[in-house]
Amino acid sequence: MNKIEMTSRERFLAALFRQEVDRPSVANPTSVATVDAMRLTGAYFPQVHLEADKMAALAGAGHDILGFDTLSPYFSVQQEAAAFGCKMNWGEIDTMPDSLGPLYKEPEQVIIPEDFLDKAPIKTVLEAIKLLRGRFANRCAIVGKAMGPWTLAYHLYGTEDFLCDSLLEPDKVRAFLEVLKEVTILFANQQFASGADVVTIADHATGDLVGPNAYRDLLLPVHREITARLEGPAILHICGKTLDRMGYIADSGFVNFHFDSKVDPVAAMKAVRGKISLSGNINNVETLLYGTPQMIEDEVKRIMAAGVQIIAPECAVPLKVSNTNLQAIVSSVSKLAKDNNMG
Ligand SMILES: [Zn+2]
Repeated sequence: MNKIEMTSRERFLAALFRQEVDRPSVANPTSVATVDAMRLTGAYFPQVHLEADKMAALAGAGHDILGFDTLSPYFSVQQEAAAFGCKMNWGEIDTMPDSLGPLYKEPEQVIIPEDFLDKAPIKTVLEAIKLLRGRFANRCAIVGKAMGPWTLAYHLYGTEDFLCDSLLEPDKVRAFLEVLKEVTILFANQQFASGADVVTIADHATGDLVGPNAYRDLLLPVHREITARLEGPAILHICGKTLDRMGYIADSGFVNFHFDSKVDPVAAMKAVRGKISLSGNINNVETLLYGTPQMIEDEVKRIMAAGVQIIAPECAVPLKVSNTNLQAIVSSVSKLAKDNNMG
């Protein structure tokens, strides 16, 4: 069977919308920044988080060096928290930034700054997206990222308090989600306006921390509103165990769910019932950080056989993953797709 070769952007967008592709897409809904890529591009952590040209240079490696179909310039999960004024440890060349503590005790205290989009951590992402769109035009897809309201509450109010409230004070949780969803929508829509093809919303209501009913009762209605108000397609990212809520996620309005290697890909495909596409599933630590290209090929084979449309690392990759191993994802998918076509 002969299929015309697609550009990276065409392939990724077709896979995202469950349309026909020349081969499965290899993409990164979250970061694939590595120390290897920093050395090759001269754009290093932590400067990249606050300098748009460096952020764009490092993100560009995702396509130029690794051969992925997408570019993702927002590398961490802390740009919004930093913009709100959380004290930050921006980290070192091989560590992710971390917030030094939350700011608020009550939802009423959360006021979105009027110049939020001009705050350096936010503006840097927006400018980087513009630079990447200019440089790559339509060759590959640009994936923005914004934290969802559940994750923003972890950062701005505190993970433990928020999780306790999800059991004991659901109205307080609802009030936080209500105000914080506006941050997600504002930032994501500005990323679309800046040139992003799709935006990943990272919202860590993971089965490792909360039950499926918390997702259904507290977060699903908010996700439906967010996706309805976004001016482009969005991917939901939640790491950890999520199989017990994937049925709800399939009804959330997200076009794709980016999922963890803790979930079996066959079970995941079954859970979303063909309503959305899936991405992810390659294990970050055992396979990508410590594994061999052969282990990567074996895992890619299993994920492709399940019918997962977009093959990707399960989450932001550890910074010390080798570029060789990330390139092995792309070569494995190409090789296996060729074998399948000939078989
Ligand atoms: Zn994650």
